[in-house]
Amino acid sequence: MPDVYLEEEDRMAQDTRTEVPVLKERGQREVFCGLTGIVWLHRKMQDAFFLVVGSRTCAHLIQSAAGVMIFAEPRFGTAILGEKDLAGLADANEELDRVVDQLLARRPDISTLFLVGSCPSEVIKLDLARAAERLTERFFPKVRILNYSGSGIETTFTQGEDACLKSMVPVLANSNEKSLMVVGTLADVVEDQFRKIFNDLGIGPVYFFPPRRATNLPPVGSGTHILLAQPFLSETARSLVSRGATLLNAIYPLGIEGTTTWLESAARAWNIDNDHFQKTIKPARERAQIGLERYRQALNGKSLFLFPDSQLEIPLARFLSRECGMQLVEVGTPYIDRMLMQNEIDLLPGDVSLSEGQDVERQLDRARLARPDMTVCGLGLANPLEAEGMTTKWSIELVFSPIQGYDQAVDLVELFARPLARKQKLLV
Ligand code: SF4
Repeated sequence: MPDVYLEEEDRMAQDTRTEVPVLKERGQREVFCGLTGIVWLHRKMQDAFFLVVGSRTCAHLIQSAAGVMIFAEPRFGTAILGEKDLAGLADANEELDRVVDQLLARRPDISTLFLVGSCPSEVIKLDLARAAERLTERFFPKVRILNYSGSGIETTFTQGEDACLKSMVPVLANSNEKSLMVVGTLADVVEDQFRKIFNDLGIGPVYFFPPRRATNLPPVGSGTHILLAQPFLSETARSLVSRGATLLNAIYPLGIEGTTTWLESAARAWNIDNDHFQKTIKPARERAQIGLERYRQALNGKSLFLFPDSQLEIPLARFLSRECGMQLVEVGTPYIDRMLMQNEIDLLPGDVSLSEGQDVERQLDRARLARPDMTVCGLGLANPLEAEGMTTKWSIELVFSPIQGYDQAVDLVELFARPLARKQKLLV
């Protein structure tokens, strides 16, 4: 149920911390809720299970976004709560315990169970944190039970991952050993590439959070240096910092510039010699440069409009404008966290039109007026805009695809070049 209605208010605000004006909109949003994150989180953490406590709508969303697995046992499910008044809450807790009992008896492979809250009022009435504590007392150490909210009232699309990772921070072991923690879900292939580069550079130990197995959680403490792989992890980053970790100052590893700057910030923290750094990254960087060159021509000078959805919009806009020559019409993003995004904003063209939040009808009007060559938006907007003759790219694809790092820079640019090439062929 991606539509969420908020207060009708918008204003143009000149943010005092930056030269770039930000259009802040607080109208109707067309953004997925945080449950969507389960799609990539359950693929990453092979021993975790995500039990959505929600309605049939939540079950439909997660089922259709994740697809139906025919040969494998799924690692997500929905406990559907019916209409209950407050007096019926004791029954709801019993019902939840019963579902968890059944699930854990049938699935001995589960080591971590996430109870994921949603927005139906019956679920809001339930205290899932207390339920997680109660169930942990029964099942720990065999199974750890955590909870977070993926509710559309509290979270947009990628904030579900932030909430999930944050729920694990309190259970990370303490260690003050100097280490690098890469935070944010990465495809295994990307994780392996980065692990190799860090190893070749002489940076370590390196931990990835979330790990491939939820039982292999990284330690955290005053020696931990955090490198964010995803730009939507505000709460997780703050929780890790409150456990003593240091957040490395970097942009995100999208494109050649982003990947180089990202790796550089870790290299600086480890005092890696610049010649060694340049030599280590040279082969991958040159491969990416050659690959990008093939597509740059297709994107150069093309106009781009990004609707707010995945929170990747600002880093993507930086990459597509600076490395591919695209002209930014509007860069919309669900929310701007300066701690995580200022470095990226500083690299956008000075005259960029930046918007935060959404008033979807007004934003659609602006897009229709501009008629950009390419529009990045959620699934709900893509089809209507395509029907109006506009070329779109689904933002959800950018979260599901491996796009970080040198070897994926070409795949990333291809994601944008392909719809334009298809349009060109249709016009011929
Ligand atoms: S959590 Fe809320 S917004 Fe998300 S699918 Fe369930 S009802 Fe819809």
